[in-house]
Amino acid sequence: MIERFFPDLIVDRVQDIDTDMLRVNSVKGLILDIDNTLVPQHMKEADKNAVKWVEHIKQCGFKVCIVSNASRKRVVRFNEKLKVYAVHRASKPGTKALLKAVRHMGIKPEETAMVGDQIFTDVYGGNRLNMFTILVKPIDRREFFFVKLKRLPEKLVHRRLQNMKDDHVRKRLEWKKKSVEKILKKQK
Ligand SMILES: [Mg+2]
Repeated sequence: MIERFFPDLIVDRVQDIDTDMLRVNSVKGLILDIDNTLVPQHMKEADKNAVKWVEHIKQCGFKVCIVSNASRKRVVRFNEKLKVYAVHRASKPGTKALLKAVRHMGIKPEETAMVGDQIFTDVYGGNRLNMFTILVKPIDRREFFFVKLKRLPEKLVHRRLQNMKDDHVRKRLEWKKKSVEKILKKQK
């Protein structure tokens, strides 16, 4: 079922995320990916744009967390200026780290927006928990080999997304709801 990989929204950059739109969709907190979402992969620290945007989101009343598959060293260094709750080596699309972040924010998974540049980790992981998923265009074209490999099947998802019908939307929402119920049940 390809719909499980469809995001709720696609934006060019995180700065294009409309906070009113988030509120309309009952979002109270955001989980952010780092690499190629907030900064290019080679950038060790949060740059001015990233810091400014995260501050803006917080000022608008949203909670913010970082959940990254990168190493502890990478995440800690990046988070020096932002100082938000951050999980490293998250194994997205696994849902454990995402749920940890959701619990830290004290909100429900469906009140969370997952923001990232990769369909098979960020979007799929968020969809599994019925989050509002936002796909960002990767900032930098230079990527690690394994990320590059994943970009090929991502193209297929994009092509199918362009021809999305009402039926896809319905199927997708049903799948998201069932998926989160199953995951939360297992946790009990
Ligand atoms: Mg990324």
